[in-house]
Amino acid sequence: MKLATRLLHAGRDRDPYTGASSVPIYQCSTFAQKDVEQRQAYDYSRSDNPTREALELAIADLESGAVGLAFASGMAATSTVLLLFKPGDHIIAGEDIYGGTYRVLTTVFKQWQLDVTFVDATDIEKIRAAIRPATRAIFVETPSNPLLKITDLAAVARLAHELNLLAITDNTFMTPVAQRPLELGFDIVVHSATKFISGHSDVVAGLAVARDAALGKRLKSLQNNFGAILGPQDSWLTLRGLKTLGVRFAAQQQTAERVASWLQTCAEVKQIFYPTLPAHPGREIHLRQASGGGAVISFELAGGGAAAKALLKRVELMLPAVSLGGVESILSYPPMMSHAAMPPAERHARGINDGLVRLSVGLEDGDDLTADLAQALAPAG
Ligand SMILES: *Cc1c(COP(=O)(O)O)cnc(C)c1O
Repeated sequence: MKLATRLLHAGRDRDPYTGASSVPIYQCSTFAQKDVEQRQAYDYSRSDNPTREALELAIADLESGAVGLAFASGMAATSTVLLLFKPGDHIIAGEDIYGGTYRVLTTVFKQWQLDVTFVDATDIEKIRAAIRPATRAIFVETPSNPLLKITDLAAVARLAHELNLLAITDNTFMTPVAQRPLELGFDIVVHSATKFISGHSDVVAGLAVARDAALGKRLKSLQNNFGAILGPQDSWLTLRGLKTLGVRFAAQQQTAERVASWLQTCAEVKQIFYPTLPAHPGREIHLRQASGGGAVISFELAGGGAAAKALLKRVELMLPAVSLGGVESILSYPPMMSHAAMPPAERHARGINDGLVRLSVGLEDGDDLTADLAQALAPAG
């Protein structure tokens, strides 16, 4: 079946017990066990819950993986995946990854002596040069956050497998609708389902998918042991969001393309970061591995930090907030929001300058969005 159909019918598209059109919210912690000799499908909701399982089956199918798992947040998914490693192991991570992933690696996992080297993942030779005997995995994100840099997924997967390393990626920005890393050889995909997958800025959730069953089994055991599972209510909301992901993502992407072109006409804008703009250095690679530019645009204002803060204050339609992927457009300020944990010198070295803002394009009409930006960039009087 095609992806648009699988978004609705993958996994479990109805309640197997009653035929209900929506898998119910199985709000229970435990399940009756009449015959303790007999292993049954469900015994305790941390291990398995039918509502969460419906979501887990769906995301595994959509990402073309063997095992899907749902977590309490994107960070819970990423952190649980990182528990695959042990003290002394080394991983290579893209330098332009999500701020929370940077933070957990440089604080919590550093304390656990998991070594990490951050590299410019757009250059496969820089990844290769960082490999050591203790290296166990390569963790990348493409398009990256917030600079929308592109990493060649197939090349990273090839390099990882040459050396028996795990290839892990955070696919939050593209979703399986537009990019499926496991099909390009990756071993694990993680998501903040808080973003496009749920899509309505009303739930915090995370997902992980393993390409093969053996690795999936290890991750499922970690999920159960560590226990950062997604509850039934939020699993249901995420499943509900998933059903409209295809149409939402397509519409938001189309509007984002229009807004990105419009931004090119603004004198106040110094640089625009959007993967399918003709000037984007990663455009060709991106279009080889993804079906469009996505719905997130970053741009740097010529007026620096003061201009960026003024823009956030003046927008009326857009929500000045952290997060992305909602039905409403969200304007955020990475230096003081998602990347506040990064020391300024480090941040500047990575090109996340004080004038940088990130726009997640929602489902509003593009004309209204550009009008909002126009009035906020150059207020009358
Ligand atoms: C938001 C985000 C995360 C973290 O997800 P939470 O659901 O907030 O824990 C991870 N990666 C990316 C790319 C994100 O945008």
